[in-house]
Amino acid sequence: MNLMSSQDYCESLREYNPSIYVRGAKVKNVVDEPQLAPGINAIGMTYDFARMAEHREYAIATQHTSGKSVNRFVHINRNTEDLLSKLEYVRALCQLTGCAMRYLTMDGLNALFQSTYRIDTALGTEYNSRLVEQMHRIQDNDLTVGIAMTDAKGDRSLRPSEQRKPDSHVHIVARRPDGIEISGVKAIVTAAPYVHELFVLPGRNLTREDKDFAVACQVPIDAQGLTIIARPAGRPGDVSAEFSSRFGQSTGVCVFENVFVPYDRVFMCGEWEHAEHLTKTYANHHRHTCIGARAGFGDLLIGASAMMIETNGLDMQAEPHLQESMVELIKTVESFYACGVSASVYGKTTEAGNIEPDAVYSNLGKLLLAHSIYDMHRLANSVSGGLIVTLPHPDEDHNPDTMDKLDTLMSASPDIPPQRRAAVARLIEDLTASQAGAWYSVISVHGGGSPAALKREIFRKYPVADKVELVERLIERGVHPDSAAKPVQPGQCCDTGCQPPEQTTLPKRERPE
Ligand SMILES: Cc1cc2nc3c(=O)[nH]c(=O)nc-3n(C[C@H](O)[C@H](O)[C@H](O)COP(=O)(O)OP(=O)(O)OC[C@H]3O[C@@H](n4cnc5c(N)ncnc54)[C@H](O)[C@@H]3O)c2cc1C
Repeated sequence: MNLMSSQDYCESLREYNPSIYVRGAKVKNVVDEPQLAPGINAIGMTYDFARMAEHREYAIATQHTSGKSVNRFVHINRNTEDLLSKLEYVRALCQLTGCAMRYLTMDGLNALFQSTYRIDTALGTEYNSRLVEQMHRIQDNDLTVGIAMTDAKGDRSLRPSEQRKPDSHVHIVARRPDGIEISGVKAIVTAAPYVHELFVLPGRNLTREDKDFAVACQVPIDAQGLTIIARPAGRPGDVSAEFSSRFGQSTGVCVFENVFVPYDRVFMCGEWEHAEHLTKTYANHHRHTCIGARAGFGDLLIGASAMMIETNGLDMQAEPHLQESMVELIKTVESFYACGVSASVYGKTTEAGNIEPDAVYSNLGKLLLAHSIYDMHRLANSVSGGLIVTLPHPDEDHNPDTMDKLDTLMSASPDIPPQRRAAVARLIEDLTASQAGAWYSVISVHGGGSPAALKREIFRKYPVADKVELVERLIERGVHPDSAAKPVQPGQCCDTGCQPPEQTTLPKRERPE
């Protein structure tokens, strides 16, 4: 079992020489770049965590294709237990880091595992064995692979092949005997500056005309022709941000210019009919993961809100309105997490042999959290008071002219030192009312797909037609109050027997392919 430590992970990044820009300047070495440190710390935590005996039960998994023990974040899920362990693992890590990011590797691997199997079955290609080979390499070297799926897209009303600028979507520009060349822009890639490699995946359904946009492959982060223009991770260097100056997420725009990919790293090459399946499968795995991630963030809000109430000198047991707000917060977090649990329990084994979470529950959980993130912030803010955004800067904590004067402001509960009250207030500001706080809102809404995409998927997968049949059966048997018919057994309603109900056009629940 090769499990790197966070230190090993940092050292491994030094072996790459990517072309990265942050805030207008070229990054010499990502590991030494302070603007990226909170992101590297967060991914580093996924490495250290897996080496701790107390987390081993859910952080380590056995890879069925090799029998080796690997970090769960580079593993193919095989059963319900795997999905539940993944949720727990993601939640636990996001309690510590806000966003652990590395789970993207697992979501990409699981989607590609299914999708390559599907293409091979339909077309006789050998993508699945290529993927398994690459996956073993990733596992043996304990790598982190980011996901480059969301294209720049251009005019949203046009298909990729209709765009004024073809580079709006990443596509194949040359097919060579030894591989392909790809060009185009992927707009939002989490952790791009500090991953080892990227999975490039199609981000939508495609038509025959879009054939060249049907490309899935794996690219090292320092591939020639790849430029990453990234944002700082979290709030680096901001002393008032205890949390997000230590942990945060950078995202990068990835510009591919004739990047060469050898065939052993290509998993889709023009099979446009399979692009939608890959996109949707990835989305399903990832939305399930998002539920665990935001539950971890919710845990931070629940804990910080309870502490803020206490530091204000109040007892939430004795104050019904505070207790109600706390229950609302708990209800919100645990409701969407329960959808994640349901998605795991009702997950289905695919023909490829991995398990896919139930899509209705994973999409519902993601939709619930996307809608309720603002309520979570509101609840944490309402129980805390205005101090969270008005408390003077930490520099005053050591200013001899002001620190004593502020002591009165900060003294509330006699049992709680003013410094503790300040620390909790600043944490709540960081998580809900800072630039990083707003970032948690937007990632909850759009990360893993916009709410409209989630709703489409719920409607597509939900068995509405089954429910119609249910009611039709009730009516036929006279259960419905408007029915004149007396209860009858099937086939005995008339001389000729029952007629099967007419086919409805409403969507049937999809069976696993
Ligand atoms: C913090 C963060 C991290 C992310 N990390 C990653 C990552 O690691 N990898 C990755 O690949 N992606 C990542 N994403 C991207 C995420 O999946 C997208 O933001 C999401 O799918 C929405 O796409 P978009 O941002 O391009 O918005 P748009 O597609 O521009 O959507 C904006 C609005 O327009 C609507 N809309 C869009 N197209 C149409 C249309 N044709 N018809 C009607 N309505 C339309 C949408 O429903 C939405 O309401 C990340 C996003 C965020 C915010």
